[in-house]
Amino acid sequence: MEFTDRQFRRYARHLILEEVGEEGQERLLASRVLVVGAGGLGSPMLLYLAAAGVGTLGIIDNDRVDLTNLQRQIVHSTERVGDLKVESARATLAGVNDDIRIETHPLRLAPENAADIIAGYDLVADGSDNFATRYLLTEQCFQLGKPLVAAALSPFEGQLSTFRPYLGAGHPCYRCVFREPPPPDTVPRCEEAGILGAVAGVMGTLQAVEVLKELLGLGDSLDGTLLIYDALRAHFHRIRIAKDPDCPTCGSG
Ligand SMILES: [Zn+2]
Repeated sequence: MEFTDRQFRRYARHLILEEVGEEGQERLLASRVLVVGAGGLGSPMLLYLAAAGVGTLGIIDNDRVDLTNLQRQIVHSTERVGDLKVESARATLAGVNDDIRIETHPLRLAPENAADIIAGYDLVADGSDNFATRYLLTEQCFQLGKPLVAAALSPFEGQLSTFRPYLGAGHPCYRCVFREPPPPDTVPRCEEAGILGAVAGVMGTLQAVEVLKELLGLGDSLDGTLLIYDALRAHFHRIRIAKDPDCPTCGSG
């Protein structure tokens, strides 16, 4: 493709990087990424992916913007309280970058619609806040062979990993590590537990970095590794995670 003058200027700090350059930027502009949830994780992720020129961003969320969201969900604004989150996010992102397409899915991801939606994207980024969605994405992304960059939050901590279990041995899925969801009501969602908003910002931003790395084939993937951020100790650590041959989703057994 030929870059326009505006694209040369907009993406100048990418184009100057040997690791990105015109080829990498073209790849980003041709990429289709689905962000699940326009909340605490999805907000910074969407802002950075839009700014980076990921050509098509899908956003799935059935919620409306609530005043309590604004403490951390920075893609939304006070005047959009009551609007659908996907439409609020679309309006913000269009202001950041008019060079990309936004596809909105104002619905809740469910077993009946997940495969159809996910099939239209190259990569899925999970910014959801519930186990049903997390396990559904794990199953569907494995079936469809899509990389899944997934983050999770607790009040002062975050976790992040990339899952590519369809690549076979040495490539675990979320379920290899967390076999079953915890019993209902044992893990409070952030609506009930509270969260330091900026912790969501750190994790959503890290998630955007990993999405861009996957799309560009840059550096080391988090595939096979769980990155944990402990905000109170200002500490990051990584643990290796292994494929479970008996995993109900991706195991061979
Ligand atoms: Zn597995």
